[in-house]
Amino acid sequence: MIDSHAHTHYSKHAVGSVNELVEAAIVKGVKILTITDHAPFYVDSKNRLLETELNQYFEDINRAKEIYDDDIMILTGLELDFMPESYSYLEKMLSQLELDFIIGSIHYIPIKNETVRVWDLPHLNETKVLNSYFSALRQLIESKLFDVVGHPDTILRSVSEDVYWRYIEPLLPLFKKNNIGYELNTSGLRKSSFDIELGQKTYDKWSYPSKLVVAELIKLSTTFTIGSDAHDPVDVGKGLQEIISELIPIGLKNISYFKSRQRIDVEVA
Ligand SMILES: [Zn+2]
Ligand SMILES: [Zn+2]
Repeated sequence: MIDSHAHTHYSKHAVGSVNELVEAAIVKGVKILTITDHAPFYVDSKNRLLETELNQYFEDINRAKEIYDDDIMILTGLELDFMPESYSYLEKMLSQLELDFIIGSIHYIPIKNETVRVWDLPHLNETKVLNSYFSALRQLIESKLFDVVGHPDTILRSVSEDVYWRYIEPLLPLFKKNNIGYELNTSGLRKSSFDIELGQKTYDKWSYPSKLVVAELIKLSTTFTIGSDAHDPVDVGKGLQEIISELIPIGLKNISYFKSRQRIDVEVA
């Protein structure tokens, strides 16, 4: 079991210390855990590490590596926010850090005079939002800053698979071409969806990852990572086996993780 996406209290909207997260992961049978708190970013300071906390964050992880060495491999990561204008900010920050793994995610979608967030579910279907999201996604993929795109398909919480496919299809060959992975984020099994017709939230629906898209990415020899995106130790490791066993029949053979930014492939089928 590999979990390459998990948060601690350093993300502020998540709970649990590094040690609590690691201990929960060991109990669940996770063998390789990458801790990926939200990196400092100028859009907000309340939902992420502050620059002044980075040293303590790395110290906590390094101490956990020593304490739990016999039971689990712990890797140091960050989840960075990507916005098209953020390239030089992110490039500068990354040049100063030594990390095993870097996730690039879109949480904020810039529209003319406002910013739509990927959890503003009723707005995600608007054409201007979709155009902005997929334009940013292309730039993220081509930025060469990241090892993987975090939850590229999270907008499936309210966007239909047909619409997602129409926008993502031209980008699919770019993952392999730019040597960046596609994350299988298992929080799609836990999070609510938004039913446009009913105008309300629904639960217990597998919203992402999209099997249609994953099948095509497998044909294109794309790298996949997998992560629970736990924001609470109780969720670490959740959904990993479920997603993998659903995707093996459509051709999934390998899951990768990263150590010192080097990809390591693990056979799953
Ligand atoms: Zn995220
Ligand atoms: Zn996350």
